[in-house]
Amino acid sequence: MQNHAHDSFLDNPVTTLRGVGDALAEKLARLGILRVADLLFHLPLRYQDRTRIYPIADLKAGQEVLVEGEIDSTEVVIRGRRMMLCHISDGSGILTLRFFHFTTAQKQSLRQGAPIRCFGEVRQAGFKLEMAHPEYRLLSTTSPEPIENTLTPTYPTTEGLQQRSLRRLIEIALEHVDELPDLLPESVLRQHQFPPLGEVLQLLHKPEGGNPTPALPLSGEGARYFSSPDKGRLGGVSLRLIFEELLAHQLGVQQARHELQQVQAPAMQETNHYWQKLLRSLPFAPTAAQNRVIGEITHDLQQTIPMNRLVQGDVGSGKTLVAVAAALHAIANGFQVALMAPTELLAEQHYQNLTRWLEPLGVETVYISGNQTPRQRRRKVENLLLGIGHIAVGTHALFQRTVEFLQLGLIIIDEQHRFGVHQRMSLREKGKQGDNYPHQLVMTATPIPRTLAMTAYGDLDYSVIDELPPGRTPITTVALSNERRDDVIERISAACREGRQVYWVCTLIEESETLQCEAAEVTAELLRERLPHVAVGLVHGRLHGSEKESIMRQFKQCDIQLLVATTVIEVGVDVPNASLMVIENAERLGLSQLHQLRGRVGRGSTASSCVLLYQHPLGKTARKRLDAMRTTTDGFMIADIDLELRGPGEVLGTRQTGDVRLRIASLLRDQHLLPAVQVAAREIVANYPQRVELLTRRWLQQPDGDTATRFFQS
Ligand code: ADP
Ligand code: MG
Repeated sequence: MQNHAHDSFLDNPVTTLRGVGDALAEKLARLGILRVADLLFHLPLRYQDRTRIYPIADLKAGQEVLVEGEIDSTEVVIRGRRMMLCHISDGSGILTLRFFHFTTAQKQSLRQGAPIRCFGEVRQAGFKLEMAHPEYRLLSTTSPEPIENTLTPTYPTTEGLQQRSLRRLIEIALEHVDELPDLLPESVLRQHQFPPLGEVLQLLHKPEGGNPTPALPLSGEGARYFSSPDKGRLGGVSLRLIFEELLAHQLGVQQARHELQQVQAPAMQETNHYWQKLLRSLPFAPTAAQNRVIGEITHDLQQTIPMNRLVQGDVGSGKTLVAVAAALHAIANGFQVALMAPTELLAEQHYQNLTRWLEPLGVETVYISGNQTPRQRRRKVENLLLGIGHIAVGTHALFQRTVEFLQLGLIIIDEQHRFGVHQRMSLREKGKQGDNYPHQLVMTATPIPRTLAMTAYGDLDYSVIDELPPGRTPITTVALSNERRDDVIERISAACREGRQVYWVCTLIEESETLQCEAAEVTAELLRERLPHVAVGLVHGRLHGSEKESIMRQFKQCDIQLLVATTVIEVGVDVPNASLMVIENAERLGLSQLHQLRGRVGRGSTASSCVLLYQHPLGKTARKRLDAMRTTTDGFMIADIDLELRGPGEVLGTRQTGDVRLRIASLLRDQHLLPAVQVAAREIVANYPQRVELLTRRWLQQPDGDTATRFFQS
């Protein structure tokens, strides 16, 4: 069963496959695919069912299906914008195909009476059904076109890498799937009656069509179905892999923790004299929870092994102050600090706060931005190298090779769910000085139950800021149908007249960032027209960093009263005077995302409110989500409800479990497996130690080709 690593075709680098040159290999490496075997563990995100043709009469909104019919008519109309509508029928019903981009030739080819086959997502448009921009093919009237007989997998991919190429390579690897060694202990295989690994992978990559519940390994309902042990043989399919991935994760985390305790960090024993000074200048006192967590951090910093602590605190709980306390402790001990934020917007905001708080103490904050020219940056970099700069604030630009520190003692990562485990590790490595590793503090607003956190972040110690600063008036949340938009605009007008500030968040169903930004532009224009007395600003992901910063600055200074934004403002933005938030298409967002967004208001002492605009009619799950938002502002409660509600077809985001990027398992969904996984991990360590590396390499391969374990061994 146990092959020798170098014997198998599967252990060869992907470049041994026909048609894989350096360019393609480089793209595959971005997905963590280095060897042929890695292709087998690159699992589908979802499937398309092109194995059967649906009668139009049976279609339901939301389905992605294959339809065949005859063209009744094709017309170009102007409804807001120019579009082409093609009406088709199959004898059972009629369906409209809607195209926003089309050519004259295309229009002419879609002539009346032509047989057509199309594939796309069915949408409700008024009382009718339609498909927007379906893939389509005009059929020949003489010979029938064959259809697929297995489901078509859609894989996670990277820019410039087509699904088609991935599918082709994975098919080649699948021919060798039986050579894959089974790494689970015999006892585990017996106990859970897992089917053979090869069979499982074959089934996941190429499931048969016609299955009423296609195997959707990563989507809500499908995943639950397939991870449920009482679903017979198919139930075992995903479960087999989920179990193995959790096991690999557990082994990796155990190893990481063990390795970390073998290395050294500077013991920071001096008292934090800056902190007392800062407290005297603050208009508020830390909460008891903040003080407790600061105590835990300080204790860690005094040790000779690196701190490795995760601080969880709901939005608005005051994580920044805790970070500042930690930073000042390091600085009081003669060390420098790197504070890393996930976006330029946040980095800039931290920089401003820190400068305001720390400059009077004689502590120098340096802002390193990805947008600075090398010239602009040089001075700042020099200051860090000379030790004149005490805290460097920035995005991951901070850890480019050109930025060096004289004595880096502490790395703080804010809103960590945007950073991967691997990034966290490589940061530490870069901060290494002599034999000393920097201490590391990770801060997140993602609420994770403690037991789960122990598994998700088993390599980290864990603190919770479980109290909000006093004097916050709870946020009132209402859900309003789109038809009440006028009332909402009226409300904005009133709020602005009272000197309050407002966020209007545009969310779009479309995944494309370009479309998101366009939609936000249109909304901002409309609001400007409707609210001529209000200063309206717009911020979205496609603005340059400096433009974004300048708009955020204007919003902070109240030069902008109404900020129209995409979800770029989701994390960390702090403008206490903003007390009204409108979220468009709220029914399309997940609960935790709504919670994060709403956390942008309710940060000052004015009563805040949040308006969730939704499109009628609301589905059952969407209604429950909005209800949950209306009834609670407790992050943990919301996380629980979120877990309960995640319904069919909804993809589990990685954000649910913080930065743990699991391929098929979900720590939340699959927590019932964790005890058995821990037993298996112990058995592997005791009886099959050589499999630890094989398992972690199989599952924890990092996108740039480093594995977590290899990292720890360096
Ligand atoms: P988050 O935990 O979401 O990062 P912030 O650190 O941005 O929260 O803090 C939210 C707001 O609360 C900020 O304006 C901050 O100055 C303020 N704040 C932090 N701690 C306290 C406290 N103990 N009392 C009152 N206000 C506080
Ligand atoms: Mg924050």
